[in-house]
Amino acid sequence: MKLNIIITLLLTVHLIQAQQPNEITYEIGFSEKPNPHLEISVIFVTDPHSEKTSFFFPNSHWGQDSLRNCLKNLRFSENITETKFSTDSIIQVYHKKGTNAIRLDYTIEQDRGKEITYGNFRRPIVQPNYFHVHTHSLFLLPDINPEDNLKITIDWKTPNQNYHNSFGTNIKHQIIQTTRKKFEESVHIGGDYRLYDQYIKNKKVSIAIRDIWMPFDDTKITAFLKEITNGLRTFWNDFDKEDYLIVVSPMNNFKGKGYTGTGMTNSFTAALSNNSYIKDKDLLQLFNHEMVHDWIGISILNDNEEEQYWFSEGFTDYINFKLAATYSFTKNRNSYFTKKLNVTMLELLISKSKNIKNKEITYEKYWSDYNTQIIPYKRGTLFAFLLDLKICSISKGKLKLDDLLRAILKDAKKNGQKLDHPYFISKANEFLKEDITPFFNRYIENGEDLPLQQTFDQYKLKYELTSYKNKKEKHFENIPKVLENQDNKLLNLLFE
Ligand SMILES: [Zn+2]
Repeated sequence: MKLNIIITLLLTVHLIQAQQPNEITYEIGFSEKPNPHLEISVIFVTDPHSEKTSFFFPNSHWGQDSLRNCLKNLRFSENITETKFSTDSIIQVYHKKGTNAIRLDYTIEQDRGKEITYGNFRRPIVQPNYFHVHTHSLFLLPDINPEDNLKITIDWKTPNQNYHNSFGTNIKHQIIQTTRKKFEESVHIGGDYRLYDQYIKNKKVSIAIRDIWMPFDDTKITAFLKEITNGLRTFWNDFDKEDYLIVVSPMNNFKGKGYTGTGMTNSFTAALSNNSYIKDKDLLQLFNHEMVHDWIGISILNDNEEEQYWFSEGFTDYINFKLAATYSFTKNRNSYFTKKLNVTMLELLISKSKNIKNKEITYEKYWSDYNTQIIPYKRGTLFAFLLDLKICSISKGKLKLDDLLRAILKDAKKNGQKLDHPYFISKANEFLKEDITPFFNRYIENGEDLPLQQTFDQYKLKYELTSYKNKKEKHFENIPKVLENQDNKLLNLLFE
């Protein structure tokens, strides 16, 4: 009996200890000399019974390889005997038994290009006057379950420079409590970024912009972002947000039109070519898409990343088109919305990869093949459109895809429900008369041509069929084009 109590007591103590978050401290500083670099120190509380601690620093991430090239001058405390990369993303640190804490120092330097471009946007950018680095290629992270909690302390060591990240701005000393995954998906910037704070229902949205822009000024960028943030929070009915950071950087050396972005925890970062090819509508498209990710992809997590890109990228674009159509800087709602859908139909139907099966869209294929990369966006957008038409028609305009998405968000917030295929099907079925499983299997899983015309005919949506000839003189026939006219009734219902 006594032994049982002792065991119970030991177990309780152990359980309490196990629930304590892992504690890690980072010191970070920025120096221009001899080469621009970030100086990092990591102090980690280790298990004194163990002789080994593992850290996570992925060599390949978001389509980038050899990220380890950016980590230099690794030095460590006396109680560490050896460090070595055991896999592509795990660094093992061997230390003496009885060690309570270890310290590692290193620098992060830029290895490719100079200013931000498409090619290096997702790698560390450390220039003499600014830096832009994602957490996974900046900090050695404890090798724990991504869903486990971390208590992170960050001390900024270069007081004459600005430093901001996804968890705060103008940081000197910062304490963050979050999961490793949420911390991992964040960005750190500093140097000559100009910071503008906006407030939406008392919640701060900080906008960081750098350099001089040719196509627009800071006032226009901040006005766009304020309306978009407000529009999206109203759409999701979700104003209870943490402080949010938006980073806008120019791609100065990019010829022609180009833009890219990444949505992360409480933040997104975007880069655009800084020339007259970039128009307001590009700014709107990019900002709105990335900010939808604050809900789809961040609050509502994919169960298996690329497998649900039809949802996290495709539905994101659909909501983006639908909302952007209603913003004050969009001149004609129906014209904007139908144009976006018509371009999406055309791009999908002329794509070489239009019938790729969903399970063939893997990490390697997605990041290495542009034809594959666009499919989940286009296919998912059109699937969302067809589903919106179905829900709207069945409910005679009372319900829309918007309601299904808000129901999914509610489950994600309440039970941490991830977006997997059986869950999506069962949730969508709550809004439909017929089980959507055969439709889903045929058009999403197997990648058959979506029944665009049949659905438009069924719901009396007005459209015409067009043909298209590509540069190689290849002809494509029967490409539907939805008409924008005001008496296209179902189209209007989608917005009411
Ligand atoms: Zn996206």
